[in-house]
Amino acid sequence: MTEKGRLVIVSNRLPLKIEGSPGNWLVTPSSGGLVSALSPVLRDRGGIWIGWTGTSEIVEMKTLREILGPASDRAGYRVFPVLLSKEDVEAFYYGFSNEVIWPLFHDLQTHCRFEPEYWDAYRRVNSCFAQAVRRHTRTEDFVWVHDYQMIPVARILKKSGVKRYCAFFLHIPFPAPDIFLKLPWRDDLLRDLMEYEFVGFQTPRDRRNFTDCLRALFPGAKISGRGPVVHASADGREMRVAAMPISIDYRSFRTLAKSPVVLTILEELRKQIPREKIVLGVDRLDYTKGIPQRIKAIREFLRGHPEYREKLTFIQIVVPSREDVPSYRVLREEIERLVSSVNGEFSTPGWVPVHYMYKSIPREELVAYYRLADLALVTPLKDGMNLVAKEYCTCQVGDEGVLILSEFAGAAAQMHREAILVNPYDVNGIARAIHAAVTMPLEKKKARMRRIRVGIRRQNVFWWVDNYLRASTGKALVDFPEAELAPVFHALKRSPAGEA
Ligand code: UDP
Repeated sequence: MTEKGRLVIVSNRLPLKIEGSPGNWLVTPSSGGLVSALSPVLRDRGGIWIGWTGTSEIVEMKTLREILGPASDRAGYRVFPVLLSKEDVEAFYYGFSNEVIWPLFHDLQTHCRFEPEYWDAYRRVNSCFAQAVRRHTRTEDFVWVHDYQMIPVARILKKSGVKRYCAFFLHIPFPAPDIFLKLPWRDDLLRDLMEYEFVGFQTPRDRRNFTDCLRALFPGAKISGRGPVVHASADGREMRVAAMPISIDYRSFRTLAKSPVVLTILEELRKQIPREKIVLGVDRLDYTKGIPQRIKAIREFLRGHPEYREKLTFIQIVVPSREDVPSYRVLREEIERLVSSVNGEFSTPGWVPVHYMYKSIPREELVAYYRLADLALVTPLKDGMNLVAKEYCTCQVGDEGVLILSEFAGAAAQMHREAILVNPYDVNGIARAIHAAVTMPLEKKKARMRRIRVGIRRQNVFWWVDNYLRASTGKALVDFPEAELAPVFHALKRSPAGEA
C-alpha cells in the first residue's frame, strides 16, 4: 500500500437504504452501530463504501446512478452498491449470517440452523462483494472489511489473484472453542479470517477466543507479543490480531444532549412522565439483548420494593429488526406479553410502570430519553460492544445517571469499574442492581459517571479508527487523502454476479 491509497470500507449494508418501488424510490440513511461509527469519519476524510443497497427489488442502473450520485455527494464519500436477489438475501443474510453466525457467535447455539445451502449462498454473495472490491479499488488502497457477513472477502480476492491490503474488524463477539467448533464449516471460516493481514476484535476476551480456536484447529499455531496487537502464525499464514473497542462520536452526542431542541423535548417528557425515577432500555429487537429477562427484573423489583410503585417508571424502546425471521416475531410477542402482564399487575390510576415503544425514534428524541433516565438498563445476554451504553453515559449532562451493564457486553471490558455489572440471566440480581442504583448517593453517582464519560471522550470513535488504521497500516487517519471523491460508477454495467 502506497501513500496514495484510499480508505475503502466494505460492509454488508451501505450507510443508506433504498426503499420503495420503480418510479418511487426513496433513499434514507441507515441506523445502527457501524453507520453511527464510520459515517463521520468517512465524511471528514473522503473515501469509498461498498455494500448492499438494502433492497432486493430490481433497480435500473440509470436510476441507481441518479439516486446514489447525489446521496454520495451529500454523504461526502462515494458509495458503490452490490445488488442482491431475494434468494440471496434469504439464504445469505437471513440464513447463514443471521441464523448461523449471529446466534453461534453470541453463544446461543440453540438458535442456529446449520443448513448447507446457507453456506453456499454465503460464499456466493461474498464472491460478489469481492468482485466489487476488485472493480472499484486499486492495488494501493486500504480495504477495511467489516463484520460477520463479509468474513470470506479477502480469501476470495486472494484466490482470484487480486492483490489488496485487507484488514477486518469483527463487531460481534468471537466465541470460545467449545462453541465455535460446533460450526460445520469451522476450518473454512477460520482460514478465511487468516487471509487478512490484520484482524480486530472488540475485546481481549474475543481475541483470546479466536487465538484459542487457532490453537485448537491448527496444532502448530503460535501466538506471540503483548499489548493490544499480537502476532499469530498458523497453517503457514502470518497475521496480526488486535483488541480494539469501537466507540461513538462523543462530541456530537454531547453537543446534541445540551442543545435547545433536546431540552424542549426533555421538558415535554418530564411533564408527561412525572416520576421520581426513570429507568431506560434501548435495544434493537434481538434475542441477544436480554429484553424479557430485564422486564422480569423490573417485575421482581416492584414486587420486592412496593415503596417504588408509582415512583419508578421503566421505558423500553425496541427498534424493529429482522422482522422476517420467525424467532424475532416470537420474541416480540413474548416481550409484549410480559409488558402487558407487568402493567396488569402493578398499574394504578395515573401510573403505568412499563412504557413500551416498538419503533425507531429520531436521534434528538433518543438523546432526550437518555437525559431523562436516572438509570439505563443495558443487559444483553452477549454483545460485541453495545453503543447504547456509551451514548447514554455521554448524554449525562450533570453526570447523575447510573449505568447497569451486562458483564457479557463488550462495553464491560472498559466500564466494569464504574458501571454496576450484572449477569443478564440473573433476574433477581438485576432487581438488586436497580435498587443499588436508585439508592446510590449523588456524589458517588457523579464520580462514577464522570469517570466513564471521560473514558468515552478520550477513546471515542475517531480514536478507534485512528488506532485501527495506525495498527493495521502504520498510517493515521490524517494521512488518507482528504475528501478525494471517486467518480460515480458511470461506465459500469450490471455484472452477471449481481454487482453494479
Ligand atoms: N438507535 C437507532 N434508532 C433508535 C434507537 C437507537 O438508530 O430508534 C441506535 C443507537 O443510537 C445505537 C444503535 O442504534 O447507536 C444500537 O447500537 P448497539 O451497539 O447498542 O446495538 P446493535 O443494534 O448494533 O446490536
